[in-house]
Amino acid sequence: HRSKSTGLPDVRERTLIAVKPDGVQRRLVGQIIQRFEQRGFKLVGLKMLQASQDVLSEHYCGLRTKPFYNSLLRYMTSGPVVVMVWEGHNVVQTSRTMVGHTNPAEAMAGTVRGDFSMHVSRNVVHASDSVEGAQKEIQLWFQAKDLVDWDCWVQTSTSEV
Ligand code: GDP
Ligand code: MG
Repeated sequence: HRSKSTGLPDVRERTLIAVKPDGVQRRLVGQIIQRFEQRGFKLVGLKMLQASQDVLSEHYCGLRTKPFYNSLLRYMTSGPVVVMVWEGHNVVQTSRTMVGHTNPAEAMAGTVRGDFSMHVSRNVVHASDSVEGAQKEIQLWFQAKDLVDWDCWVQTSTSEV
């Protein structure tokens, strides 16, 4: 499949990015969106909601045995989140780099966590960690009809070498 306007192959890789409740409370939503826009990724889904226990327990099913699991769910339900789907070349790996290390103390300056957070229990943002994980998370948080398949006529990324 090629873009109608640029003729270049469409990049279909997608990832789920969420601004966590502390990021919303601290008015960081705009700055976080801006970083993904200016990098060239395409926003294809966006919503604000109060996350449910059901969705969060599925989203964090791999962490159920961790000692911080209950506090993680309390944190994630402490206020609304902004959930987004971003699309583009290598978006899963690149957004992990942009978000930075899970523990903000180890996150590089210039990353979202490195610039905006101090502690792992309040690390501002979520990013899917693999292409398969992203597909599962996108299905969990979004209905297919709420993702917008729009044609980007400004060339910002390509799968061609
Ligand atoms: P991520 O993919 O970088 O978000 O990291 P993980 O998937 O390993 O963990 C999911 C989330 O659980 C992290 O983003 C943190 O919000 C939280 N978390 C991870 N490790 C800890 C921890 O040691 N203590 C606390 N309180 N929360 C943690
Ligand atoms: Mg993770």
